[in-house]
Amino acid sequence: MAKKNKLMVFDMDGVLVDVSRSYMLAIKKTVEFFLGSIIPIAEVEAMKQVPGNNDDFDCTRSILLAYGIPATEKALIKKFQEFYQGKNFDGLIKNERFLLREDTLKALSSQCTLAIFTGRDRKESTYALEKAEAAKYFKTVITAEDVKKKKPDPEGLLKLLDKYKPQDVWYVGDSVDDAAAARKAEVPFVGVIPPGTSNPAELKSILLRKGAARVLDSIEQIQKVIG
Ligand SMILES: [Mg+2]
Repeated sequence: MAKKNKLMVFDMDGVLVDVSRSYMLAIKKTVEFFLGSIIPIAEVEAMKQVPGNNDDFDCTRSILLAYGIPATEKALIKKFQEFYQGKNFDGLIKNERFLLREDTLKALSSQCTLAIFTGRDRKESTYALEKAEAAKYFKTVITAEDVKKKKPDPEGLLKLLDKYKPQDVWYVGDSVDDAAAARKAEVPFVGVIPPGTSNPAELKSILLRKGAARVLDSIEQIQKVIG
């Protein structure tokens, strides 16, 4: 089948980028700041898989609320970004690592049109793609600014379907909100286990229950999906 008829759409965090030492840690540290005590990272991972908590600010707020601690949106985002972005992108964002090797990306992009649908904003998305010198492989990048509502709203996927009209399409993500967006857009969902996940077997079963056609143990197995 011609390349133009295949579209592979990626979520970014946990899928293309290892955020176990960046966003995930920023959530943990922000919660700990307002809570005044230490929490296990597994608690952050678990809240991420509660529907509606794919967004990192939402996830942070939900954990704090579960402890009975309300934090204003402004205070929460300010503290979170002190940890994540730091002063001039010198915070935890520095720890991020791009997960797809260039030869895999090159092979994939010769078989499919590649696109991204992420909850990241444009600035943070561009930072990750440019740092990895991977921007040229992705034909369209849909960021937070490009949609009216966050995932699980499927708007980003629907825009891509409309633009490319693919015969074959996949959405590759790591959260239940990604799975729900795919379901609403009627796009087959491929789950992937992010690096550093405390309980990969549990995450795998959650994503399968939420409709994943399959779940990859690592994004490097992505070529199996095209077959
Ligand atoms: Mg993700």
